[in-house]
Amino acid sequence: MGQAQRKTIDDFVAEGHTPVMAQYMAIKDAHPDALVFFRMGDFYELFYDDAVKAAETLDITLTKRGKSNGDDIPMCGVPFHACEPYLAKLIKSGFKVAIAEQTETPAEAKERVKAEGKPASKALVNRDVVRVVTQGTLTEDTLLDARENNYIASLSEIAGQFGVAWLELSTGAFFVQPCDELEITAALERIAPSEIVLPAKLEEKLETIPREVLSPREPSLFDSENARKRLEKLFGVGTLESYGGFSRAEISAAGALVDYITRTQAGNLPHIAAPQQITSGAHLEIDAATRRNLELTRTLTGGRKGSLLDCIDRSVTAAGARLLQSWLSAPLMDINAINARLARVALFAGDNSLRDRIREQLKSVPDMERALSRLTVGRGGPRDLAMIRDGLKSCEILRAQLQSHNEAKTVLSGLLDSLKQKPELAALQDHLQKSIMEEPPALLREGGFVREGYHARLDELKTLKSESKRLIAGLQGRYQKETKIDKLKISYNNVLGYFIEVTAKNGDALMNFDDGGSNPFVHRQTMANAMRFVTPQLAELERDISSAGEKSLALELEIFENLRTEIAGLSGDIGKTAQIVAMLDVASGLAALAIERDYTQPILSNDNKFNIEGGRHPVVEAALSKQSESFVPNDCDLSGANALWLLTGPNMAGKSTFLRQNALITIMAQMGAFVPAASAQIGIVDRVFSRVGASDDLARGRSTFMVEMVETAAILNMATENSLVILDEIGRGTATFDGLSIAWACVEHLHEVNKCRGLFATHYHELTALTSKLANLSSHSMQVKEWKGDIIFMHSVGAGSADRSYGIHVGKLAGLPKPVLARAEEVLKLLQSGEQSGSLAKLADDLPLFSSVQASAEDKPSALEEALSAIDPDGLSPKEALEVVYKLKGLI
Ligand code: ATP
Repeated sequence: MGQAQRKTIDDFVAEGHTPVMAQYMAIKDAHPDALVFFRMGDFYELFYDDAVKAAETLDITLTKRGKSNGDDIPMCGVPFHACEPYLAKLIKSGFKVAIAEQTETPAEAKERVKAEGKPASKALVNRDVVRVVTQGTLTEDTLLDARENNYIASLSEIAGQFGVAWLELSTGAFFVQPCDELEITAALERIAPSEIVLPAKLEEKLETIPREVLSPREPSLFDSENARKRLEKLFGVGTLESYGGFSRAEISAAGALVDYITRTQAGNLPHIAAPQQITSGAHLEIDAATRRNLELTRTLTGGRKGSLLDCIDRSVTAAGARLLQSWLSAPLMDINAINARLARVALFAGDNSLRDRIREQLKSVPDMERALSRLTVGRGGPRDLAMIRDGLKSCEILRAQLQSHNEAKTVLSGLLDSLKQKPELAALQDHLQKSIMEEPPALLREGGFVREGYHARLDELKTLKSESKRLIAGLQGRYQKETKIDKLKISYNNVLGYFIEVTAKNGDALMNFDDGGSNPFVHRQTMANAMRFVTPQLAELERDISSAGEKSLALELEIFENLRTEIAGLSGDIGKTAQIVAMLDVASGLAALAIERDYTQPILSNDNKFNIEGGRHPVVEAALSKQSESFVPNDCDLSGANALWLLTGPNMAGKSTFLRQNALITIMAQMGAFVPAASAQIGIVDRVFSRVGASDDLARGRSTFMVEMVETAAILNMATENSLVILDEIGRGTATFDGLSIAWACVEHLHEVNKCRGLFATHYHELTALTSKLANLSSHSMQVKEWKGDIIFMHSVGAGSADRSYGIHVGKLAGLPKPVLARAEEVLKLLQSGEQSGSLAKLADDLPLFSSVQASAEDKPSALEEALSAIDPDGLSPKEALEVVYKLKGLI
C-alpha cells in the first residue's frame, strides 16, 4: 500500500510474464506485506511465496500453475464461497490478506478491449484490491470474538513527543493520547490493540509487544500536516482546535490511522466519532508485567478462563462484555466518574426485581455495534438491518422500563436522556420495521428480505415471478396433454435455463412432433436416459421470469442501499445508543455479581487511605466455592503510618493470594465495580505495580532473575506516593545474601523515596529488623498452627513476623521422598545452629543419601504396615477379624 512508482502490468509483461501473471505481479507489487487472494472464477488463488506460506498455514495442497518467465509458479487456492474459515486462520496466524476481485465480467472485458480497437481474444478481466483484511480492521462476526474488543492503534513521534491514537471499528469510538517515551508501552498495553500502525523506526520502542501486532508503514503516512488536513476533512471542521488542543504527534497518529483504514477498506470508511483526548493521568496505569501477574483479562497461560475478567463477567450482551473488558483494562482516576458508575451498580444491586427485568430485556438486544460497522463499511447484509431495527426497539422498551422506576429515573437520568430516541432514529426504526422481514435471510445478493406490502412495484414483480411459475406448470400440463407423454416435465438448470425433459424412449416422439406442420420442440441435449428440448413459448416465459427476478432483486438492493445510507447517516446516534445499552448491561451485570458473591460498594477518596476489611481474592474464592470450601477473609490497612507491610509466613500459607487480592480490589474499585470485601476505603491509586512469581523471558534472552530485576527496577523508578506496589519474594532468584541485600535495599527505597503504599512478601525474616528503623513499615505474617508435627494453614494474616518458613513441611505435602525430607531436616538444624562453615564441611563428609543402609532403613515398613500386609482377609473368621482390628489399633 501507498508506495510511489509501482511497476505496471506492461512492465511485468515486458519481463516475460503472461498477461494474467503480470496483472497478479502488479497487484502483489502494490501489496508486498499482504498475501494476495487473486480471484479467478470460483477461487481465490495464491501464487509464489504467498502460496507456500498459505499452503503451510492452512494445511492445503501446494500445486503449480505452469511457468511464467521460465520458472514454475507455486500455487494454492481457496474456494470463494467458503473462504472465511481460511481467511480467519491466516489473520489469526498474523498475516494480512489483500483481496483482489474481478471488477468486470469477461463479457465486459471483451467490450472494453473491442472499444480500444484491440482483438477481443486478448481481453484480460480487470482485477483490483477491494479490501486488505488485517486483524485490526475486521468486522465479520465469523472472524471476531463477539465478547472481545478489537482495537486498532497507531503510534507516531514528532520531535521527541509521542502520540497514540486508537479506534474500535465496530463503534467508531476514536481516542488520542499524548505520551512521553516511558508511557508508550503502558498506554498500548492498556489499550491492547490487535494491530498497531507505526513508522518502522519506532518498532524497537515496543519491545514487549508481540511482533505480529505491528504494522510498520512508510514515514510519509505520518506527516502531521497531511494528517491534520485529512482529519479536518473527515470531520468537516475548519480546524481541529474545536476538539481540544492536540499535539502534532497525536494528530499525526490519528491521521495515519484514518489513512490506513481508508486504504485497507478501499475507500469505504466506517463511521468514526470525533477524537476524544485521553490525558496521561486519566487512568490507573497498570504495566504489562502487572497485568500479566494479576491475570486481569488473561491467565498466565494465555486463556480467558480463570482470569479476573472471566470471574466477574455477568454481562448478557456481547457489547456489554466488550465494555467490561475495556473498563477492567483501564480503571479510572476521577472519583466522580467512578462514583457515577458505582451508583448505577448500587441501583441494580438494591432492587432485585428491577435488575432481573432489565437483564431479561437486555438479552434480546442484538449486537448493534458490530452490525453498524459492517453496514458502514459496505459489508452488511439484511440481517444487520434487522439487528439495528430490533436493537432500537429493545432500547425503547428498556428506556420505558427504567423511566417508570423512580430511583432508576434519578440515578440514570443522564443515560436515559441520551437513550431517548431522536425523531430521525424513530423514523429509521419505522422504515426498517415496515421494510425488512421479521427474520430475513443472511445473503444480500439473493434478495427475498423485503416485506410484502412495502413497495408496490416490488410486489408486482414478485407476483409476476410466482405467476410465471404457475404459467410454467400450466405449460407443462398442456405439453403433457398434447404429446400424450405423462412424464414430460419442465425443469431448470444454470446452463440451459428452463427446458423440457422426457425419457430417451419418448425423445423420438418429441423430435417428430407435428403441430399443424411445424414442430415447436427444439432438441437441445441428449443425456444417457433423457432428452431435453426447448420451445419458443417456454423461452418467452423464461425471459419474463428472469427479467421479473432481476428487476425485483435490483429493487430490493436499492431498498437495502437506501436503508444502509439512512443508517450510515445516523451511525453516531445508533453507536451512542448501543454504548448506553452496553453500560446498562455492565452495571446490572456487576450488580448481579455483587449480590451473588456478596461484594460491597467501595468508598473512594483523594488521599492515601487504604483500608480493606474482610478482603477476599475474587478468583480464588470462586474456585474454592466450587469445591464447597470457603475463603478466609483478611484485613489490610495501609493508611498513613501503615503504608508498607512486610509479610512473612510459610510457603503455601496464602501470601501471594493476599497480595494479589488487595491489588485486584483496588483495580475493581477504580473500574467502578463492587469489591470482594466487607468494607473497602481506597484513596485513588495512580499506578498498580506487581512483581509476583517468577517467569523466564527466554524468547528475549532474559533469565528469570533478569526479568525479576528489570521489573523491580521499573517499580522503584516509577512508583509515586499515590501508587500501590505489591512485591512477592524479591531476590529469591539469586544467592541468599545477594537476594537479601537487594530485598533490603528495595524496602528502604520504597519507604524513603517512593513513599507508596505497598505489600512486601518475603522469606527473608531478617528484613523484619527494618521495622524498628522505618516508621511506616510494619510486620505481618500468615498464621499457621502446628499439630502433631504437621502444619495447618490458617490463611489469616496476623501482626508480627513468622519465625520459620516450614518449607520442608510443604515439601512433605508435595511428596518429596522420605530420605530427602529427613536429610533436609538434618541440614536445616545444622545451618540454624550457627557455626555454619564447620557444620557444612561435616555434612559434606557424611552423605547418607548415598548409603544404601541408611536409605533402606528409612524405607523399612513400619510395624503397622507390616501387620497390615500380613492380613489375609479371606482367611479370617469374624472373631479373628475383630481381634486383628484391636491389634492394629494397639500398633498406632
Ligand atoms: P508460596 O510462598 O509457596 O508462593 P504463598 O504463601 O504465596 O505460597 P499462595 O499461593 O497465596 O501461598 O496460596 C496457596 C493456596 O492456599 C492457594 O492456592 C489457595 O488455594 C489457598 N489460600 C490462599 N489464601 C487463602 C485464603 N485466604 N483462604 C482460603 N484459602 C486460601
